[in-house]
Amino acid sequence: MSLKVCKFGGSSLADGNNISRVTEIIGSEPARRFVVVSAPGKRYSDDTKVTDLLYACYQECVEKGSCADTFQKIRRRFHSIVSELGMETFDIESILNETERAIEENKSADFTASRGEYLNARIVAAKLGWAFVDAKDIIFFDKNGRFDESRSYPLIEKTLSASGCAVVPGFYGTGADGKIKTFSRGGSDISGSIVARAMNADVYENWTDVSGFLACDPRIVDKPEKIETISFKELRELSYMGANVLHADSIFPVRKGDIPIRIKNTFRPQDSGTLILPSKKYVKSGNIVTGIAGKKDFTVIFLEKSMMNSEVGFARKVLSILEQDNINFEHMPSGIDTLSLVIESKYLANGMLDKLLEQIQAAVHPDYLRVLENIALVATVGHGMASNVGTSARLFTALSDAGINIRMIDQGSSEINIIVGIDNADYEKCIRAIYAEFFRKDKAAI
Ligand code: ASP
Repeated sequence: MSLKVCKFGGSSLADGNNISRVTEIIGSEPARRFVVVSAPGKRYSDDTKVTDLLYACYQECVEKGSCADTFQKIRRRFHSIVSELGMETFDIESILNETERAIEENKSADFTASRGEYLNARIVAAKLGWAFVDAKDIIFFDKNGRFDESRSYPLIEKTLSASGCAVVPGFYGTGADGKIKTFSRGGSDISGSIVARAMNADVYENWTDVSGFLACDPRIVDKPEKIETISFKELRELSYMGANVLHADSIFPVRKGDIPIRIKNTFRPQDSGTLILPSKKYVKSGNIVTGIAGKKDFTVIFLEKSMMNSEVGFARKVLSILEQDNINFEHMPSGIDTLSLVIESKYLANGMLDKLLEQIQAAVHPDYLRVLENIALVATVGHGMASNVGTSARLFTALSDAGINIRMIDQGSSEINIIVGIDNADYEKCIRAIYAEFFRKDKAAI
């Protein structure tokens, strides 16, 4: 029988009515047998997520030794969820009392934050009449704080298979010290992916409040196209550059298992969403470009030195300075006698830029050292780009027609992306110009 592992995000589970919607979705397909849930998210734009209330509880505990004030708000949220779901016989009060006591005893930020998922999973499991399987018993981290595959996968498989159908709280597991440990924020996406991989699901459905990925930021381009299918590789490039629907780390477990992800909208379950496919299963969509994403506020340090190419260790010397200063570089385009470092400007604040330039000067004596600040990077991503002659010509012509000065170009070696560096001020214009070239023009031509 086919198997779908489903993860529902915080907005899909923000109140009892939404949870009812979710249980209907789960019940509508027998293949949906294992469900991973987030904590209740925002019900309206200035509402507070339960996870944020829990972090505030932890703070209150640290300051006052008790979290009674903030925990009261959490009590109210869960009581209203249970009553909206008509679960009068479900004893949420005892579970909440126990949770409040445990938060005060544990005095741990991770334990406290994890309780939103824990409580929600208990409720969803009871509503469905399914087993509740605590993530602490099946998801483990190693002593370096990384997800421990070899310990977790067999346990997940064994426990969930035995339960038949189960609800698992997302976002946390057990650390090497035996204590609850969370993933980074938004980490239930990772938990869902782990469960999908362990169970060798046919698909990992990630249910959220949008009908999939858009080809670019809708705040910049009016009603951009939705992406029907995208490969893991393309998604990685786009999410790295700021496009976010899924937690960036969540693709790794399913990607290794060749399991596709489908992004679905809880509020429009009839929509097809976006299908994220492993490269092997990827079917070309017909579009040359799949998506466009970008980020502002980079600094480019441009070095030139004659015969740089024959100076063994030149790049290593430069990069080891960055390593010493604990600065992450984003890209490093290079030519025969030139090398550029593209770094997020936030790493270079408070005198760090001057210090870095002095260190580079002393270490490699470049003939020329120049800095470009306030640079935005825009990535144009698509498998179709490698096989279509003239794609970069079209991209650069579109930018020059829009009067945009390209300050830097970097093409990934996989040939599925071209990144341009432009002035921050041209960022929106640049995305609109690329979108118009590869989506509006191509559509108009069909
Ligand atoms: N509830 C956690 C957060 O708000 C994890 C998640 O929702 O994925 O970050």
